[in-house]
Amino acid sequence: MLIDLHAHTAPRSNCSTTTLAELVASARGRGLDALCITEHDVRWPDDELADASRALGFPVIPGVELTTDVGHVLAFGPLAKPLWMGYRLEELLAEAEHGPLALVLPHPVRHLAGARAIKGGRTPPAPEAVAALDQWSSVHAIEAASTQTTELEHAVTAAALRVAPRPAVGASDAHGPGRAGAFATRLDVRVDSAVALAEAIRSGHVEPVRTEPPVAGA
Ligand SMILES: [Zn+2]
Ligand SMILES: [Zn+2]
Repeated sequence: MLIDLHAHTAPRSNCSTTTLAELVASARGRGLDALCITEHDVRWPDDELADASRALGFPVIPGVELTTDVGHVLAFGPLAKPLWMGYRLEELLAEAEHGPLALVLPHPVRHLAGARAIKGGRTPPAPEAVAALDQWSSVHAIEAASTQTTELEHAVTAAALRVAPRPAVGASDAHGPGRAGAFATRLDVRVDSAVALAEAIRSGHVEPVRTEPPVAGA
């Protein structure tokens, strides 16, 4: 199945300008089978998201984008701590050892090779330097591409994946209309819950997909 692992709605993510209904319309228009909602450091109440998914007639799976000591980390599955207390990467890894929690590193080279970094005069890192980051080898999958990352970031990430191969996913990181599903992940199983998704990601049987062409008006 094809799933978008990373998307934001307004007003739960104040950087987003779109709604759950619009994200679902875009993902559906691109032929996806499911969409994850990953707001910053906050989760939708499970029953509210399930109700919305039913009303829209489309599988929507809960996740969260956590702000950690190594930057953003996407988490799928149960988390033990209240989110307002914050998470360090090592705490997430410890929880993932004991439960069905999957961790994905989004925009993995943003601080090294993102638009702002390059504008600030940074030289893009060698792939070996990216592969040497703690988070590169410790999370379950790397986000290889999204609508919020540049072609340079995609190239640096791809080079690091060649040096130090890891399971890789695609995800839209949609913050606006028409973006959801532009990048997606192919799973070799069908999932309908965060725990099942976490198991699928942890299995490593994931593949990034860029959906082409964008559907007009989606
Ligand atoms: Zn992020
Ligand atoms: Zn995001």
